[in-house]
Amino acid sequence: MTEPTNGSNDEGPDKAHDEAHGGALGSRLNWLRAAVLGANDGIVSTAGLVVGVAGATDDRAALLTAGLAGLLAGSMSMAAGEYVSVSTQRDSEMAALAYEKRELRDQPEAELEELTELLEGRGLTREVAREAAVQLTERDALNAHARVELGIDPDELTNPWHAAWASFLAFTVGALLPLLAIVLPPAGWRLLVTVVSVLAALVLTGWSSARTGGAEPGRAVLRNVVGGALAMGVTYAVGTLLGAAGV
Ligand SMILES: [Zn+2]
Repeated sequence: MTEPTNGSNDEGPDKAHDEAHGGALGSRLNWLRAAVLGANDGIVSTAGLVVGVAGATDDRAALLTAGLAGLLAGSMSMAAGEYVSVSTQRDSEMAALAYEKRELRDQPEAELEELTELLEGRGLTREVAREAAVQLTERDALNAHARVELGIDPDELTNPWHAAWASFLAFTVGALLPLLAIVLPPAGWRLLVTVVSVLAALVLTGWSSARTGGAEPGRAVLRNVVGGALAMGVTYAVGTLLGAAGV
């Protein structure tokens, strides 16, 4: 039997405690961040679209049609992409759980030893790790292995429909801003209102995505605003050229 001698014995339980809380907080921040990024996508792509069309025509019906089509196409494409990616992740998590379940049934002793070593690796002494592993195994072996070994919570696997619906909503909320900003004001004010409100919104989304990611907001805001301004500038130039050419 080997005793860990790195002095991590007393901080072991605290570390595990922090990780448990970090996990819940982390997943909440991930959702928030995904929502902000989805809204950001909706703002930039729809703004580029409607500003480009505005470069070619003053027709409000054309702007509304283009903006609405862009909103729906973008939100549905985001939702489908999210559904596929979360489904794949869920499939592999379920497969890992099923495999774990088989292992627990076929070789419980080896699995108990595995769990003991994993807990030791987190800073518990051999004896305490063994005792903890025995208790965890008695209560819910699969749950313990899922959390400690696979790093997943079997009771809270991400639902692909929830994820798809969340990205659909986030993109739609973002896309509504440039759509309304280009359609509602009188013709002479359209571009100014759209550009100003879009850039202001990008300051906000850049700032909050940096904050939820724990990064310094200044640069993120700058990148986000420059990216959005470029998107609108390029599509406006193309739209103006096409409009002037009479396409
Ligand atoms: Zn295991």
